[in-house]
Amino acid sequence: MKATVELVSTGAELLSGRTLNTHTQTLARYLAELGLELSRETSAPDDRIAIRDAVRDALARASVVIVTGGLGPTSDDVTRDAVAEVVGAEIVLHTATREAIRQRYERTNRIWSEKVSRHALVLSSADVLENRAGLAPGEAIQWQGRRLFLLPGPPNEFEAVLQDHVMPRLKAVADVLPLQRVFQVAGLGESDIVRLLPEEEFPGPDVSVAYCASPGLVEIRLSALPSAAAVHARAVALVRERLGEWVFAEQRVDLETVVVEALRAAGKTVALAESCTGGLLGHRLTNVPGSSEVFLGGIVAYANASKIRDLGVPADLLEREGAVSPEVALAMAKGVRARFGSDIGVGVTGIAGPSGGTPQKPVGLVYLSVADEAGAKVEELRMGGPRATIKQTTSQRALDMVRRRVAAVH
Ligand code: ATP
Repeated sequence: MKATVELVSTGAELLSGRTLNTHTQTLARYLAELGLELSRETSAPDDRIAIRDAVRDALARASVVIVTGGLGPTSDDVTRDAVAEVVGAEIVLHTATREAIRQRYERTNRIWSEKVSRHALVLSSADVLENRAGLAPGEAIQWQGRRLFLLPGPPNEFEAVLQDHVMPRLKAVADVLPLQRVFQVAGLGESDIVRLLPEEEFPGPDVSVAYCASPGLVEIRLSALPSAAAVHARAVALVRERLGEWVFAEQRVDLETVVVEALRAAGKTVALAESCTGGLLGHRLTNVPGSSEVFLGGIVAYANASKIRDLGVPADLLEREGAVSPEVALAMAKGVRARFGSDIGVGVTGIAGPSGGTPQKPVGLVYLSVADEAGAKVEELRMGGPRATIKQTTSQRALDMVRRRVAAVH
């Protein structure tokens, strides 16, 4: 029988609107790899009775229950007490974890107190799951034929324990692992995709197609049972044939990571001249470990004076064509490339709104340019939506232009 999975998230901040519950999305994405779906998510405040009842209810419905948060040392961390009551376990000190935490404190010159060792309190019936990203370990408990997991709250710790320990355990009990293929597509909206790749052309109902769109990005996921492997392979081939040049990855990875990797593999460097993105492009590139090998630097040239002084854009060009024009985007890309001595220069100028638009140059009009020794290219984008969306979509398109330039896809 297929496993049913529920998530119980704990923490008053999730209910007060102070923190967005990202665990639901993270968990659902990992479960999809096993062909499983979350059947319900419950959020409970830091209250022992509320958590106890939520866990008890979830265990009455689901074969796998994942409880997150409230494993720390403070008085509002009551998850293990609540769960211990449900499954009738004692709470004991896990000495190996306590010792590992103490050594970590010593290594990082932090002041040790016995309070910290509360992180090492676990249920007597639990398998302790090492947390490589933090202090509180996870726990796996088998109870009346159900699998119960306690995971730490901080999102990076939650994901680390999920990946290292929960996924292998769930994989072992999953019925049939589905065939999955993910395509990351930049520069096309969902409507473009449906036009290039009408769903009726997919080979039969045995392959399920799911789309997930965010600014400048659409993820397409093709899933099928192993018995439909041939049909799944045909669907994968169809997506590659129709969308090939737009697909920047066939796995879950950021475009900036792909761009840094492509630049590194090609031994090329990049410099950025950003106006309407205000440094977002540089921020995204520098989020990638190892970007220092390929990213030389950038200039946020917001005012015309900065475009002239810092990038060498001719004043009369700005006067004649306006700051938001293909000519100025090109001059910015060439200017930054020359100043930084990079292989590739990127220029971005546009109107992010909500004010500043005119009938000829409306809000959402953006020009992007990429220049290298072989020449330069300029693209025009016309978008709707709020400022943040326009900036994000623009940064996505600019990164994709760099990717294409490096891969010589024009
Ligand atoms: P620690 O004691 O190490 O902080 P913990 O297991 O007690 O770990 P919490 O105190 O519940 O975890 O949460 C730690 C941090 O993680 C908080 O900043 C909290 O807002 C955040 N967090 C907890 N649960 C979630 C969630 N579902 N989604 C996003 N952030 C979360």
